[in-house]
Amino acid sequence: MGEPLRSVLIANRGEIALRVIRACKELGIRSVLAYSEADAGSLPVKLADQAVCIGPAPVNASYRNARAVVSAALAFTVDAIHPGYGFLSENADFAALCEAEGVGFIGPSADVIRRMGDKIEAKKIARRAGVPTVPGSVGAIAEYGEALAVAGEVGYPLLIKAAAGGGGRGMRVVPSAATLEKDLAEIMSEAEVAFGDPSVYIERYLTDIRHIEIQVISDGSTVLHLGERDCTAQRRNQKLIEESPSPVLDADLRRSMAAAAVALCQEVGYRNAGTVEFVFDNVSRTPYFIEMNTRIQVEHPVTEMVTGIDLIKLQLQIAGGLPLDLTQDDIVVRGHAIECRINAEDPGNGFAPNPGRIGAFRAPGGPGVRMDSHIEAGYVIPPYYDSMIGKLICWGQDRDEAIARTLRALGELVVDGIVTTASLHEKIADSPEFRSGRFNTAFVADLLSRTESTDRASG
Ligand code: ADP
Ligand code: ADP
Ligand code: MG
Repeated sequence: MGEPLRSVLIANRGEIALRVIRACKELGIRSVLAYSEADAGSLPVKLADQAVCIGPAPVNASYRNARAVVSAALAFTVDAIHPGYGFLSENADFAALCEAEGVGFIGPSADVIRRMGDKIEAKKIARRAGVPTVPGSVGAIAEYGEALAVAGEVGYPLLIKAAAGGGGRGMRVVPSAATLEKDLAEIMSEAEVAFGDPSVYIERYLTDIRHIEIQVISDGSTVLHLGERDCTAQRRNQKLIEESPSPVLDADLRRSMAAAAVALCQEVGYRNAGTVEFVFDNVSRTPYFIEMNTRIQVEHPVTEMVTGIDLIKLQLQIAGGLPLDLTQDDIVVRGHAIECRINAEDPGNGFAPNPGRIGAFRAPGGPGVRMDSHIEAGYVIPPYYDSMIGKLICWGQDRDEAIARTLRALGELVVDGIVTTASLHEKIADSPEFRSGRFNTAFVADLLSRTESTDRASG
């Protein structure tokens, strides 16, 4: 059995860095933040116990620089590194480097990250574990002839996906055979440039779907699940609003999806927190595995709000070698939670990033409201990183109360000086489709085109 961690280096920035610092403080763990020159004045730097600059603003010189991060961890003699999400969090070579240097990596083993990080390999493992996957190619597509053969079985439209894709990137819809050859060549070279891996595979392109994922946690022997999150409100395959529970699952489906996620984790020997993602076909009411994220996710607070369980603290405890002091029966979902990702982007201008100086800032408050954000008045959002400036998470006794609270809290939020996506969240949460709980992943795009045409008509 291990010993509780005494010190942790956080290799990340923004709200997730702050989230990990907060958990460390509550557990009496010394927090050391590794930051870039662009983040020197940020709130996480101010609130960490210690902070160390690891390089200039560009991510490859700092947050994605494995050597710089590990050197900082060794210099500050920390027990382990928390990678957050993005950056080095799903980088198997980085986890292996930590293992080699004798620094803990807060996540699964390098081997598990490597296997599950390759979406083709992950689908094979899922099939072995008896988990249903989206119909498509069994392995990578090497050339056009193979793509044509698979297309014959899968039909059009189909989806070509990069094995190493992520963050909503590395996917292309192919409407018909006419463009298959060209699309295949283009996405392979795009994947090579973006991810350093040209491997792609084919899936049936499902059109009336929801995105539903299962949160799992494992200490290496016991695997538990913490229910689902529904992330169907997306734009361009990127999540905007997440909620738990899903408004469409019944008890049987919920149980079978959770069992599938747990079986998958047992199959690979999973440790720490992870998420098993499914697309859910609205017509056949069938879930299909799409990928596993071997890290903490952006939307983890939704699960924390309905279960009362602190996922980051569990991550830290497991990384210290402590066994889970929970059983599946201890995990009970109560009420409903909704998260809005607030981005510094202009919905009125093609969602162009909108960095700049924040004037006045007012965070919403009151019952059931949680705001996870690193911004404050006078803060200058650097242009180098992801545009997310915070997450608003609201809990209610039921879904209707959670929606009412979300709208009430969005009304209280003030972020002067920059344009954010808060107004879009108000539109979504207030729409009849969202309120009904019956919608699919195309719903936000439909809502946007509808409101754009009314804006034009009334303007
Ligand atoms: P989640 O699955 O936690 O909802 P996202 O898929 O939105 O998270 O990704 C979390 C963060 O990591 C985002 O900032 C996203 O831009 C980044 N990210 C995830 N995967 C990749 C990748 N392969 N390449 C670049 N950035 C990524
Ligand atoms: P990423 O690694 O970028 O998160 P995912 O494989 O998780 O990529 O897919 C992201 C989103 O793309 C899903 O939530 C879903 O909306 C859409 N998507 C993925 N696979 C399919 C599919 N076969 N058909 C239709 N939409 C899909
Ligand atoms: Mg995904």
